[in-house]
Amino acid sequence: MRVIVTGGAGFIGSALVRYLVLEKGYDVLTIDALTYAGCRESLRAVEGRGNHRFLHADIRDAPAMAQAIDTFRPDRIMHLAAESHVDRSITGAADFIQTNIVGTFVLLEAARSYWNGLTPAAKAEFRFLHVSTDEVYGSLGDEGLFTETTPYDPSSPYSASKAASDHLAKAWERTYGLPVVVSNCSNNYGPYHFPEKLIPLTILNALDGRQLPVYGKGENVRDWLFVDDHARALDVIIERGRVGETYNVGGRNERRNIDVVRRICAVLDTLVPAETPREALIGFVTDRPGHDARYAIDATKLEDELGWRARETFDTGIEKTVQWYLDNAWWWRPLRDRYDGARLGLDAERSRVSA
Ligand code: NAD
Repeated sequence: MRVIVTGGAGFIGSALVRYLVLEKGYDVLTIDALTYAGCRESLRAVEGRGNHRFLHADIRDAPAMAQAIDTFRPDRIMHLAAESHVDRSITGAADFIQTNIVGTFVLLEAARSYWNGLTPAAKAEFRFLHVSTDEVYGSLGDEGLFTETTPYDPSSPYSASKAASDHLAKAWERTYGLPVVVSNCSNNYGPYHFPEKLIPLTILNALDGRQLPVYGKGENVRDWLFVDDHARALDVIIERGRVGETYNVGGRNERRNIDVVRRICAVLDTLVPAETPREALIGFVTDRPGHDARYAIDATKLEDELGWRARETFDTGIEKTVQWYLDNAWWWRPLRDRYDGARLGLDAERSRVSA
């Protein structure tokens, strides 16, 4: 099995590459532009393996994508490369439009051209998996779950750009017959997560005795999935998912942000006791503009049709994650020096008007 993974130096992409190379034994070509979020060190476990190659390239570069695909001749393309941080999309949306929308278009076109040249048998086997987020569905109230038929209603520049790319991926299947499958997943956490996101930022700030910023009142609810569960789900979806379909991926682990932060404090207090409980470091900060109240995934289709189940609960996954950060300062220390946890994603104009 020959698989191209775009965004494979990122958080979820690197978990997927490690899984495909080390556990499945597939031949993998990672394509990544190594933006601020990309990290070659996340692929250290597969460096030097005969079944892994790395290509430093941008998905918006049409000749480079055509050459990479035509040369590697993949059976599958798993597309994860994206700008992924909501706060950054609020501060500046241009890269999100360019990479998430234009980049996906370029990749779909390169895949289509390659696919058109395959034998009928290879054409039938080929798959393109477009990896997306549950944020395309907008926000839920206290009740209900996102299903695959929930209408799209994105709130942020990030989720709007992902929604646009989902529509492109589906259109390339309906219009051109490219065998596309789409997955929409809830919030991930786990090892190798860039320290600007809530969970790693909280772990590292708590270790340093720094403030633990919680947006608004911390009541926003997210449905947390351990990243290795997501990697397995993506492999199952591209292997057995039906062409043209969407599969929602989620761990049935809803938590309020404030409870996530408190749980991390409790785990750290047990593993590395401090003089005062780390909960004292929690500070409530101005909410994110357009902050969706609640996300929760109904993963029944993936569970019943394809037989996937999340293995980690939030409690088991968060303990593994905290322990991983304690054991792997070599990975996060240089990133932490590059990014100091400064607040992003405040809309100055809007804050002034509403103040
Ligand atoms: P990430 O930001 O950690 O990694 C993104 C990777 O893409 C980085 O390695 C970066 O260098 C690369 N990249 C960015 N622009 C590129 C370009 N123009 N060309 C080539 N490479 C480029 O993101 P992540 O959290 O691993 O998310 C991966 C995918 O999963 C994204 O498509 C995201 O929308 C989706 N997703 C993420 C979550 C989550 O909780 N993190 C949940 C659901 C879906």
